[in-house]
Amino acid sequence: MAGLTHIAIDGPAGSGKTTVARALAKRLGILYLDTGAMYRAVALAALEDGVPVDDEAAIVRLARSKPVGVVPDPAAPEGSRIYLGEREIGAELYRNQVSTIVSVVAAYPAIRELMVERQREIARTAPVVMAGRDIGTVVLPEASVKIFLTASVEARVERRLAELAAEGAHVDRLELRTQMVERDHLDANRSISPLKPAADAIQIDSTELSVDEVVERVAAAVRSAAAG
Ligand code: C5P
Repeated sequence: MAGLTHIAIDGPAGSGKTTVARALAKRLGILYLDTGAMYRAVALAALEDGVPVDDEAAIVRLARSKPVGVVPDPAAPEGSRIYLGEREIGAELYRNQVSTIVSVVAAYPAIRELMVERQREIARTAPVVMAGRDIGTVVLPEASVKIFLTASVEARVERRLAELAAEGAHVDRLELRTQMVERDHLDANRSISPLKPAADAIQIDSTELSVDEVVERVAAAVRSAAAG
């Protein structure tokens, strides 16, 4: 994959990585991929088919029989159109029930293998800004720039509440906070590909920064990497 610009943006829920990754990809005129949407698609399939989330073998069977399709499309909000089998999915991915179980399915090694394979395939063909939890550590360890974006729990909860309100969804603040903390805990403590900064990641705490300020810092890191 040498020669293609790959930018990895990792961080916990609500750290602003998807907003920043999307804005940066637009600025650079390259693809953006929100890998969280892919794990959410598996979780949605489990909910729809009534597969218990703790039945690992059944979840893996389901993910194989109803594969998550990703078709890069700069016009789509996640940077790609996401399919479950033949069906395109969208806003359902962000349902509260999906957020509640997604970290359980994302911890299954065979599920990660399937998703990572597709993510690398996309990166092989195009320059991309990829947002997730394990992009700098596992998916694209050779990425030219790796960012680990954090923010205080309070700031992350407020951002997510504002996003949900903009979509017309009103969620209880305490419930959201509990779910976010629990999801981060599961993501950071799983045995495979845990959420953690790559050794060579640039860490940015966005608690006191605007989206534009974060994008500017990341863009500066990209310029400096390109200058060698
Ligand atoms: O980014 P988002 O919050 O939509 O991700 C949903 C979940 O998907 C995360 O909490 C995590 O469990 C999983 N995920 C992951 N690896 C990624 C992206 C997301 O495990 N690269």
